[in-house]
Amino acid sequence: MGTRRIGLQGGSFDPVHFGHLRAAEEVRERAGLDEVWLVLARVSPFKVRSGTSPAEDRLRMLELALEGAPGLRPCTVELEREGPSFTVDTVAELARRHPDASFTLVLGLDAFREIHGWHRWTELLSSCDLAVTSRPPERVEEGAGALASLGLPIAVQEAFWYDPTQACHRHRSGRRLDFHPLTALDISSTAIRRLVREGRSIRFLTDRAVADWIATRGLYRA
Ligand code: ATP
Ligand code: MG
Repeated sequence: MGTRRIGLQGGSFDPVHFGHLRAAEEVRERAGLDEVWLVLARVSPFKVRSGTSPAEDRLRMLELALEGAPGLRPCTVELEREGPSFTVDTVAELARRHPDASFTLVLGLDAFREIHGWHRWTELLSSCDLAVTSRPPERVEEGAGALASLGLPIAVQEAFWYDPTQACHRHRSGRRLDFHPLTALDISSTAIRRLVREGRSIRFLTDRAVADWIATRGLYRA
């Protein structure tokens, strides 16, 4: 049996929405991944102060949204550890548990722009491939100039080179970086939480079962 190629899309999923889901689906197809795992953050290192809904609710909504979506599944490994979750530790732990798998981190452009602020980011970029997607209002381009056009810090730009033989960027470690221009869905969890708080409709922004869960549990009202 060959190596399984697994995408890892991290997030707080508070709540999961069609922006997350469509990104996972399109990257799975475009990059030829066997599966994409949606990795639920216990507490995002960037959201420690603002807080999130209980992990049980966020996980339940993720499960509801992914029901009947072959190739996409929730991953709860970060819920097993105390404190904020660092992606570098998550990837190492998953690699240990799944020696037959090779991992690709799936990130929206908003997240990739902050990558140099992530815990042990150079080690992270050496431990997995990277798939960076459009995140409205910003769109990514493919090709040789794609990285340079983003105006990232020099330290990040210099960590990569362009490999014309494979038409991808490569980290110093040899790991791939691919850009994926996706169907642009300008949806965020923040906007959904605000709509609920204001008593407005969230229909067609996320899965119906997720919207029902939010209503039944009274999430985001206060
Ligand atoms: P919040 O508003 O609470 O920050 P969010 O909608 O930004 O929530 P996150 O959990 O912060 O969702 O994002 C997790 C990952 O999903 C990030 O890599 C982010 O870039 C990506 N993502 C979120 N929304 C979209 C979208 N509409 N299109 C593409 N990627 C998205
Ligand atoms: Mg976000």
